Amino acid sequence: MTNATVTLVEVGPRDGFQSVDMLIPTDKKIAILYDLYTAGVRRIEATSFVSASAVPQLADAAEVLTAANAMPGLDPQVLVPTARQAERALRAGARHLAFVLSVSERHNMGNVRRTPKDSIEEYSHIIALMPSTTKMRLNIATAFDCPYDGKVDVAATLALLEPLVALAPDAEIALCDTTGRATPNDVAALFQAALAHFQHIRKWAFHAHDTYGLGAANALAAWMIGIKVFDSSIAGLGGCPFAPGATGNVATEDLVWMFRGMDVDAAIDLNALLEVSREVAVLPGAQIGGRVREAIGARRRAGG
Ligand code: ZN
Repeated sequence: MTNATVTLVEVGPRDGFQSVDMLIPTDKKIAILYDLYTAGVRRIEATSFVSASAVPQLADAAEVLTAANAMPGLDPQVLVPTARQAERALRAGARHLAFVLSVSERHNMGNVRRTPKDSIEEYSHIIALMPSTTKMRLNIATAFDCPYDGKVDVAATLALLEPLVALAPDAEIALCDTTGRATPNDVAALFQAALAHFQHIRKWAFHAHDTYGLGAANALAAWMIGIKVFDSSIAGLGGCPFAPGATGNVATEDLVWMFRGMDVDAAIDLNALLEVSREVAVLPGAQIGGRVREAIGARRRAGG
């Protein structure tokens, strides 16, 4: 009987699928969502409402969201880049929106073609049109490190958060290690500073990348100072846009393995999850990562 619990937010169906060039059939996406749900996943970034010409892979956002909404107890969040897309998502039945902006101006320009200041403005428009029952997840990209400008100062991340926190004190805030170059001491330092600076904010999350092999170590550093919500991607799906061929998102199965070994309950069935991971790992065009799928698969083949 464990009493510590952790929440994993599965980002494979958005962050992961978006990086796959070859179109994944909508039925296949919904089947993977359902298999993740069956394994115990209850929070998921299901899709993104974006222009279909910009991201053809996610043109089926409304259909995927409808399917996710039909799974009892599942809390699907959908990424929306603009107020216009947020309206579309809400019309399609979204109850949990996600928004992303970067601390780094260059990264934000590259990612969403706006200055961080303009992104804050867009965020305010989205907040204004959200019904009171709709939840918001705010993703702060390059919170630790920028692919163009290197290490990001703690003070810069806190300064960006200031107006965002004021706009929506109830939003869950994820600090994202976009490049995977943060180390456990960076992760601890930023979360400690953020928790001390925004004492009224209770909902924090960490989005780790495993590009340099520190995804689980960094998640552990955040856990040790009290963070209880972690993003991860099944099979590590997602890759790294700044280092083609390299691993991106930390693998869900790796975090489940770590937390299970620490007697921390993620309420996810590891064996069922590994089945899904193997299925996702063979999707044509998938860039994958993680260790546990291979380690346990190899052990099986060796007969124990
Ligand atoms: Zn990511």
